[in-house]
Amino acid sequence: MLVRLRKNLTEPELAAVHGLARQLGLRPRFLDGTSDLLQLDGRSGPDHRSRFEDLSAVEAILDPGEARERFQRAAGQPDTVIAVGEGRFGGGNVTLIAGPCAVESPERLLEIARGVRERGATVLRGGAYKPRTSPYSFQGTREKGLEMLARARLETGLAVVTEVLDPRDVGAVSEIADMIQIGSRNMANSALLQEVGRSTKPVLLKRGFAATLREFLLAAEYVLAGGNSQVVLCERGIRGFDPSTRNVLDVGAVAALKRMTHLPVIVDPSHASGRADLVRALSRAGLAAGADGVMCDVHTAPSEAHCDGHQAISLDEFARIAADARVLAALDQRSVMHCTEVVR
Ligand code: PEP
Ligand code: MN
Repeated sequence: MLVRLRKNLTEPELAAVHGLARQLGLRPRFLDGTSDLLQLDGRSGPDHRSRFEDLSAVEAILDPGEARERFQRAAGQPDTVIAVGEGRFGGGNVTLIAGPCAVESPERLLEIARGVRERGATVLRGGAYKPRTSPYSFQGTREKGLEMLARARLETGLAVVTEVLDPRDVGAVSEIADMIQIGSRNMANSALLQEVGRSTKPVLLKRGFAATLREFLLAAEYVLAGGNSQVVLCERGIRGFDPSTRNVLDVGAVAALKRMTHLPVIVDPSHASGRADLVRALSRAGLAAGADGVMCDVHTAPSEAHCDGHQAISLDEFARIAADARVLAALDQRSVMHCTEVVR
């Protein structure tokens, strides 16, 4: 690892650098003729970079060397492929996730699930626990919602992704869900990240709406470091200044993330735009930028939706997005997953 130190360090600051190096079993040596370029020789692990970054003496890590974080894509490293039911993310596989923002009733969920399955989704989304901005808004159907998701999976063969808000619910959600969602508001909740890191279920980690890519990737690192290697990243829009759209889909982030990490990256054009009429255009943009999947809010009666009805698209619009996805994926020799399992 190569580190640049700040100029004019005090004795205690320099001693802290040497102390940490000793503690981690690394041999520090200044590069010829410099008092600020410090090479740390020896075996270093993914945690070493952050430990040095924490020191006040350190200005920048110029080369992490072996102190590479788990999310990082090494030169030539292939995509990590993550399977969720019949869905596959990464390695040339594109998966469409669709469903209501919130799980509302068994009949509605089943109607939407059957509709999106027929039109090309392999994973059903739906929040049972909803992270609402106002404490007075609909908070979700909770345990009953989990049961409704389990039934929809049984009836349709779709895999299920649903959000967890509280570390205490990770066990119950893991029992039902094929994939656990960490929402934008919880991206930096380290207790929750550590808890899903102990789960064996794949995690869908949504980008915090004001998170840098490094912060986003370090949130994924919490899960990876906890022992769960299955993390799919989701770009869902960042805060902008223009209220014309709910958020700003950061398409550049998708392309950049695909280089920075071997983990799959998908887009959520629904929460990014907040507008049903823009979801198709943003889905195309995300896929063109290299996204390994798209997650859309779909509803059969958006005006009756308990939350985010204005951004929910119809089944017909979802079918158009699925058709677009097949064309765009083929441009890069990729393919869109579909359900093959026969259901009753
Ligand atoms: C969601 O996908 O249901 C959701 C709440 O999204 P976000 O966390 O991105 O706001
Ligand atoms: Mn929503």
